[in-house]
Parts: sequence; structure tokens; C-alpha cells
Amino acid sequence: MCSVPPVGKKEKMLTATKAKVSAGRLLIDGQWVEGAKKFDTVNPATGEVLTEISEASHADVDNAVAAARKAFEDRAGAWRKMSASERGRLIWKLADLIEKNIDEFAELETIDNGKPIFESRYVDMPMVIDVLRYFAGWATKIHGETVNTFETAFTYTLREPVGVVGLIIPWNFPLLLASWKLGPALACGNTIVMKPAEQTPLTALRFGELAIEAGFPAGVLNILTGGPQVGKAIVTHAGIDKIAFTGSTAVGKEIMRSAADSLKRITLELGGKSPNIVFADSDIDNAVKGAITGIFYGKGEVCNAGSRLFVESKAHDEFMEKLVGRAKKLQPGDPLDPKTRMGAIVSQEQMETVLGYIEAGKKDGAKLITGGSRVAVGDGHGFFLEPTIFGGVTNEMTIAQEEIFGPVLSVLTFDDMDQVVAEANKNPYGLAAAVWTRDIKKAHTISRQLRAGTVWINTYGLMDAALPFGGYKQSGFGREMGMHAIEHYTELKTIWLNL
Ligand code: NAD
Repeated sequence: MCSVPPVGKKEKMLTATKAKVSAGRLLIDGQWVEGAKKFDTVNPATGEVLTEISEASHADVDNAVAAARKAFEDRAGAWRKMSASERGRLIWKLADLIEKNIDEFAELETIDNGKPIFESRYVDMPMVIDVLRYFAGWATKIHGETVNTFETAFTYTLREPVGVVGLIIPWNFPLLLASWKLGPALACGNTIVMKPAEQTPLTALRFGELAIEAGFPAGVLNILTGGPQVGKAIVTHAGIDKIAFTGSTAVGKEIMRSAADSLKRITLELGGKSPNIVFADSDIDNAVKGAITGIFYGKGEVCNAGSRLFVESKAHDEFMEKLVGRAKKLQPGDPLDPKTRMGAIVSQEQMETVLGYIEAGKKDGAKLITGGSRVAVGDGHGFFLEPTIFGGVTNEMTIAQEEIFGPVLSVLTFDDMDQVVAEANKNPYGLAAAVWTRDIKKAHTISRQLRAGTVWINTYGLMDAALPFGGYKQSGFGREMGMHAIEHYTELKTIWLNL
């Protein structure tokens, strides 16, 4: 794909960063280690290099895995042997430290990812804190069972930590998606080798500093920065017992193939192409707001984005007029401005991918109703795209089938419930779905028929630390958050005692 030149003329610069941005090193066995190679992390709102980050080598991966193994079981005070209440206390303390530094964390996330400060400060970071506290509470509530079998036997089960777990994180919700894995992994007594995405390592590194400050023993949390090669080295490492991955379906499949050699446990949170279904009997104004949030929140770089909007034909004209009116008002702005609701696309590469899909939509005959172009914010070097809506989309088109991971909405129409359920399910993904109607019977019936891990009724995108999140079909398997996450970070052992 051709590269996209900066747009716009020289205008006022974006808000200056207050958070201190240090060069990134690797966290191995409680020490910050300089990597032999470096790469840059870029502010997508300005195109400027924020700082230099260390790239982990194979030797660094070996050292991190060895440190995690030692911290898991070999050392005095090993993590798995520490009292559950002490583990919970440390996780809670870390949550407190993040809360104390919440403005700094929010700003680091915004300059690294391009998301509006409103989202980082009031959604991502509060949820990181909440998720850590939720799992801090779980540390003391992980039980086995006693089971009645024979008169002559005492039989029971234990839930034990899996061991050393590799966490591989994407760039769209850098610290939030890390917390979904860190919380249960730590609460269950596992030790960690974590790799944040190469585009957005800053908050993970600051998290590592606070973990040391909170008093986590050396080696419990190791952080390795770098690209896919570092991820591969973690996935194929014989010393890692489980991989928890969030990212693209293509990489998820690769991980599943390579994990087969060692039969590592894996959980995969992958892509989505979630249907958002609006019936004519819904509260149309609310459904319009939900459709806007569903696709444009997080610049559309959201795994559960409501990127396929199905509108009942009877309501189409009224709905589209309101939808397009709102989308036009939602113009990209300086991510550090508290009023901004649409930030910068994470990287030039991602922006080009999204622009490529916009071209594919036009080529397939969809009607570009609004947006479709890069826009200048500040000096024009940032990666900003207009909120984009395509009408006249059919379910076979590329823009209706493939995950775009950007602010591009495909609008389809339907006339009856069976038709819309069939079309909504006709997609390789099954992460989430939503339905808007005042008819409660219809809402529950359709919720059961949709093949998706989460279904929202008359809302979009709500989440809570206590509720499981994860996919059907090619959106992956395993669940994060909620009590079911505990199952994925423990092994179940059966013990027989002959009485
Ligand atoms: P990606 O798969 O390219 O990268 C994700 C992470 O995996 C990064 O840390 C990357 O360095 C690493 N990686 C890349 N190739 C690897 C390999 N071969 N082996 C091991 N690690 C490797 O995905 P991305 O572009 O960073 O993120 C976007 C994707 O993530 C989208 O498809 C999105 O839907 C998905 N996602 C899913 C969820 C969910 O909960 N289901 C949440 C957020 C994002």
C-alpha cells in the first residue's frame, strides 16, 4: 500500500505532554536492563518519536523466563507459596499506586496510542484499577472441593497456579487489556513474562515501576518490550506453561499452531466484526447514540466495535439522517484536549490499512455517505481519519466481512428477524453483538440466536470486571474477567487418600 503524506498546513501545535517519558528498558528479575537493540515509540497525534525502547533478545527472554520460574517456586517467599491474602494485598496496593498516579498513566496512554484523554482518564485507567481490585479479592477465594466417592477414600481437588505465564498484549487498550490478564494471573499465584505491543509500551513499563514500589518480589513480573519476534520467542519458549494472547486472529492461529508442539495452555482473545441490530420499534435516538459509540469509541480500534450496523428498512431513513448528523459533528481533535472524543489512529501503518478498506468499500459498490479521508489536526503530521459511514453495504462485501479496526461503519438493512440473525451470524467472528428493540421477547430470543460471546440489549460496549468477556468462533476462546478467568490461570488437581 502506498504511504500517505502528511496533510494540512502548519497550524498550532498540539497540547504539550506533562507526563515524564523515559527511555524504555526491560524488567527482568526485578532489575531494569538495557536491551542491545532499540526501537522508537511514536506519538500518533504528531508523528514525533516519544522515546527509545529496548528490544528484548532471545537471551533476555531466557533470563526473564528463568527469573519467573525461580520466583514461582524455587525462592524462599516464592509467589505460589506466599499466602493468598498477602498476594491479594500486593495486587490491591498496586491498584492504589496506579490510582495515585492516574493522571500520569492516562496521559502516557494517550500520547502513545492517540486515544482521547477523556477515554484514558475516565474509562481505561479506572477500569484497570477496578479489574486489579476485583482479582485482588479473588486471591483468597480460589477453592478446590471435597468430593464424596468411596467410604474408604478421602477425595478432594486443588486449584493450583499454572506456572509461568506469557502475556502478549495489543496496542488498542494497552494497560487495560494487560490488567485483564495480570489480575487473574497474579491472584492465582502465577509468575509472568509480559510483552506489551511495540506501538504502545509506555504504560506497561510504568506499571512495572509501580509493581516494584508496591513490593512485588523480583521475578514475579517481567516485562519484555519488542515486536513479533519477541512474542514468538515467548510463545515457543519451553519454560512457559501458558500463553494468554490478545490480538489479531491471524497471529492467534499462529500461536495455536506453535503452542501445539509443547501443548502449552492458551487463551486467545482475537478479532471481531460485531453486528449491531436496530429494530424499528427501538428508541431510535438511543440506538443512534449506541451506533455512534459502538463504532467510533476508541477510533473504532476496538475488538468489539459494532462495525456491522443492521437497520430495519422501515426505520432506515430516519435513523440514517440522525446517525450521519452525529457522525459529522464528531471530528478528530487533539487527543490531550479533554473535549476531544475522536483521537488519532495508532500508527501510520494502521491508518493506511483503514484507508485501504475504505477504497475496497468504494470498489465493491458501497456508498460512501460521510468521511473517508485523512484529516489534519495540529501540524498535519498526525494520523487522523474522519468518522466514515458506508451505506448500501451487503454482507458479502469485504467491508462487511473483515475486521477494519478503524472508524469505518458498514450499514446494511433487513426486513425480518430470521434474515437479520442469519446475516449477523454469517461471519467468521463471534465476539459481541447488540440488539435495539422495545420488545423484550424479541430481545431475548435474538440474544440466544446470536453466536457471540457478549450480547448487549439497548446499549453498546458496557463491561465490568465481574462479567466474562471473550469470543465464539474465530474471535478466540477462553474468557477474561469474572470468576471464569480463574479457571484459565489454574490447573485442577485430584487427590485420593486411602483411608
Ligand atoms: P497483532 O496480533 O498484530 O499483535 C498483538 C500482539 O502480538 C503484539 O504485542 C505483537 O507484537 C504480538 N505479535 C505479533 N505477531 C506475533 C507472533 N507471530 N507471535 C507472538 N506474538 C506476536 O494485533 P494488533 O494489530 O496489535 O491488535 C489488533 C487486533 O487485536 C485486532 O484484530 C483486534 O480485534 C484484536 N483485539 C482483540 C481483543 C479481544 O479482547 N478479543 C481486544 C483487543 C484487540
